[in-house]
Amino acid sequence: MKRQGVGEVMISEAELQKRIGELAKEIDADYKDKHPIMISVLKGAFYFVADLTRAISTPVNIDFLAISQMPGVSRDTGIVRISKDLDLSIAERHVIMVEDIIDTGLTLAYILQNLAPRRPKSLNVCVLLDNPARRLVELPIKYTGFHIPDRYVVGYGLDYKEEYRHLPYIAAFEKDE
Ligand code: 5GP
Repeated sequence: MKRQGVGEVMISEAELQKRIGELAKEIDADYKDKHPIMISVLKGAFYFVADLTRAISTPVNIDFLAISQMPGVSRDTGIVRISKDLDLSIAERHVIMVEDIIDTGLTLAYILQNLAPRRPKSLNVCVLLDNPARRLVELPIKYTGFHIPDRYVVGYGLDYKEEYRHLPYIAAFEKDE
């Protein structure tokens, strides 16, 4: 039996910050004078959106969504409840969805479907970690921090049962088997 716990560091703090600097440069080039709104889903992306927005020079607005599972609805449907909606209107605004990790893609697909009828001028996705092995739906991902192998990861905002979010790096996590 494998012991549960934090395993090897997969992406160090320095690697995270370097890549975030590169993503910020790309976003600056694409969104100059567009005053985008960056939306992140609580809680996993909170360090990422904090570091990314501070690395960007273009003026941005920041807003948050929170989602929770629907009682009685299976996780694999991707159907979630928006438990905290946006404070800002996104009508006629350039929107960048900032996500921590995309796995099956179902959660983000559901959120994008919810945001599209609010008539943003544009809607793009920036994700820190892309785990393509388990993808079930295609998503329009414009900016990707890192492609990762199919392992459960924690740290830099990502949790296991609400623990390990505070780790400044991304590490593999072994669950009890
Ligand atoms: P998806 O709907 O793409 O399958 O799942 C996306 C959400 O599942 C992420 O936003 C994240 O909250 C959670 N998730 C997926 N893979 C991982 C992982 O490896 N580690 C952690 N901590 N959460 C994950």
